[in-house]
Amino acid sequence: MRNLSKSKLIAFRQCPKRLWLEVHRPELREDSAATQASFNVGNTVGDVAHQIYDPAGKGVLLNAQRDGFGEVFKRSAELLSASQPIFEAGFAIEGALAFADVMLPIKRGGKRVWRMVEVKSSTSVKDYHRDDAAIQSFIARNAGVPLASIALAHIDSDWIYPGNDDYSGLLKECDLTEDAFGREDVVSEWIETAHKTVEKKAEPKIGTGEQCSSPFACGFFAYCQSQEPQAEYPVHWLPSIRANALKALVAANPSLDMRDTPDELLNELQQRVKSHTLSAEIYFDAESSAEALKAYKLPAYFLDFETIQFAVPIWKGTSPYQQIPFQFSIHRLGRTGKLDAKAFLDLSGNDPSKYFAEGLIAVCGSTGPIYVYNASFEGARIYELALRFRKLAPDLLAIKDRLVDLHPITKANYYHPSQQGSWSIKAVLPAIAPDLSYEALEGVQNGGMAMEAYLEAIHPDTTAVRKDEIEQQLLAYCGLDTFAMVRLWQFLAGRNDFQF
Ligand code: SF4
Repeated sequence: MRNLSKSKLIAFRQCPKRLWLEVHRPELREDSAATQASFNVGNTVGDVAHQIYDPAGKGVLLNAQRDGFGEVFKRSAELLSASQPIFEAGFAIEGALAFADVMLPIKRGGKRVWRMVEVKSSTSVKDYHRDDAAIQSFIARNAGVPLASIALAHIDSDWIYPGNDDYSGLLKECDLTEDAFGREDVVSEWIETAHKTVEKKAEPKIGTGEQCSSPFACGFFAYCQSQEPQAEYPVHWLPSIRANALKALVAANPSLDMRDTPDELLNELQQRVKSHTLSAEIYFDAESSAEALKAYKLPAYFLDFETIQFAVPIWKGTSPYQQIPFQFSIHRLGRTGKLDAKAFLDLSGNDPSKYFAEGLIAVCGSTGPIYVYNASFEGARIYELALRFRKLAPDLLAIKDRLVDLHPITKANYYHPSQQGSWSIKAVLPAIAPDLSYEALEGVQNGGMAMEAYLEAIHPDTTAVRKDEIEQQLLAYCGLDTFAMVRLWQFLAGRNDFQF
């Protein structure tokens, strides 16, 4: 019998077909960039956990990939009779194996026993973490490890990095011993059923559904979807599927076509998307959008931010996953129609926040609307900067008060069938300004790519030439975001008197 690893058992918990495919057709798996990025984050948090749980550096880090499973199981058994922290200790029982992130020796009743800690890069305990802990403890205990407790250590998003590589407060522990130890029978059943699944000659017949994205995005989605009939007008193009009846219908029929979705289950916006998608006709209430913008006079500003976040903060005074702005682009449209562009971009690798805040204050003037697309994002970043830099707070909060969101005005008044239910600026722009294109940009074409480019630019190994190239790409990308807003404003406001 093959031994199923904990990650295979967790895959089974998500979907038996996923487990079967992971074992028999691993070549079909296509992990998204986001999934890959989350693996990298997990590795970074794991590295810091070594420092936190073994500040004296006396622990032993095992490596099954380098040394092989057999060697790590043997070495783990030896180390369990010593008294030092162990990282990535391995345990195997008939049919299953697991590696523990952290094993810490403790004394209980005069005996040495072990405390297991599983380290996660999330900011809270999720249900699948409980399954994870139950599987880990089941395998360890049945392998003969004197396990006293198991805890999950997740990131404390309220923690503020004090600097000097001091990460002692980054992780917050939650004890899961009672829950994990109390589910031995269930875990035993999971292992048995998982083996029966793997032994099947053919893959389980399971259609795509909610399980494909929860708790993880499944890498076999493209494959599974290709086996199913595809709707010409997928129901997922309907915006904000939240009402219970519609949600239940979609969950039961993931390949549902909009044409087969009863109108009575749809709200006004969903009905509009449905009817205009099916008729291939544009919806545009020009009068209403112009009215919504009438109150805002020129000069006007058009603003967009790019941000970066770190699970493990690298800059003093910042928190895990805090979105830290490193770039803005701003267009200013004067009363005469004169359009000026300015930008801020800090690729120094130092905390860009203060210079960013000062730069923003310097270019926003003192009056006039500041148009953004999804004001909650820019507004939240400005507010966070105001909290960090008290002296700049009055000016920053005055900027925040001038933000005007073009997103809800667009959503309420415009829909082109090519948007497929999305009002992201990248979905709207090709419809209202087909001469502008994100695809035509070199390198950076979306927010995720901007983050990756930023990380590459600040990496010490990046050459000056490459850094310059990234700088130009980032400036072009963020600049297009704000120019797109200018064109969108012009379109919504009906200001054809200006030529851009
Ligand atoms: S895509 Fe969905 S149905 Fe296919 S294996 Fe993954 S979770 Fe299962």
